[in-house]
Order: sequence, then C-alpha cells, then structure tokens
Amino acid sequence: MPAGHPDFRLGSVLATSFTGTLSERHGTEVERIPTPQRFVDWLAIYGLGVASCTPAQLDLARELREAIHAVATAAAVGDPLPASAVRIINDRSVQGRAAAVLTPEGERRWQLSSPARVEDALGVIAADAIDIVSGERDGRLALCASPTCRAAFFDTSQSRTRRWCDMNTCGNRQKKARFNARKAAGGQ
Ligand SMILES: [Zn+2]
Repeated sequence: MPAGHPDFRLGSVLATSFTGTLSERHGTEVERIPTPQRFVDWLAIYGLGVASCTPAQLDLARELREAIHAVATAAAVGDPLPASAVRIINDRSVQGRAAAVLTPEGERRWQLSSPARVEDALGVIAADAIDIVSGERDGRLALCASPTCRAAFFDTSQSRTRRWCDMNTCGNRQKKARFNARKAAGGQ
C-alpha cells in the first residue's frame, strides 16, 4: 500500500465492495480511492485491469459509486429506487464493453475491450449492482448496523441475519462500543 492512502476493504461482492471505497458515510468519511492510480489498483484486485485512469474517469467512477449506494440503500429499506441513480447505473452498464470468459480452471473472468478502459470496468460493476438489486443473485441487501457507516451490503449468509458490512471493522467496533458503554454504566 502506498504511504498515505487508506487501505482497501475488500469484500466478496463487487458492487458493494465498490460502494465501500467510501466508508463512514455517516461519520468521518474515508475516501479509499483518493487518486486515479488508487482506483486502477483497486480495479486490478477485482480482475478489472485497466491501462490508465484520468481524473475525469475517476469522477465517473465516483458518480457510479454514489448511484449504486443510493439504489442499494433504497432497495435495502424497501423505498422506491431513485430514478436519476438508476439512470446512471444503466448508462454505465450500457457503455461498458466487457465479455465474460471461462478459464481452463472453470472460473469466470472479465475480458475488457482492448485497450481496457475505465468505462468497461464500470460497466461490469454496474451490471453487478443490477444483479444484486434485481434479486438475480441469491442474497439480501441490508444496511450496516453501525450508525456512522450504514453501508449497503449483500448478505449471503444462510440465515440472512448479518448485521455489519464487515465483521473485522464495523462489527468489532460495535462490540467494543457496547462493552465500553456497559463498563461506563457500571454494569457487569
Ligand atoms: Zn459498516
């Protein structure tokens, strides 16, 4: 990790991991893709390698990120989907050029247009968001129980009772906060 940049929180669901590149949305925000290069690095981790990213393309990425966050949040609480955010997701999905390819090991990989553009990677992310919001994939959209986070996440646990976007960060912090509150109250 280059010095000075916040580390990535890598989840297993592409679209919600992407919205997680801005965390603590209801607290002190942490921007985890502060530069175009950091976004290139993030994409590479998810198998969406692109040659370069301009500041304008990073803006496009963040616009999509906020659109997915808005739509996923609405879907999680059962609100109507915000039309402008839906439009942004659809635009990115339509304008990306990427194909699913099967590896000899039987895994799916994304092959972006050549040379691979940020727009192609955004198309894959937008399509992933469409999958989870539309219920095409098995799971449940929910909001993180942390009051400073409230990130939308995709719960694929058997019981569908996951409470935090990430057990190692929000989950642990909540547990610690409850412990400290009990101590302060002189409780057991
Ligand atoms: Zn969280």
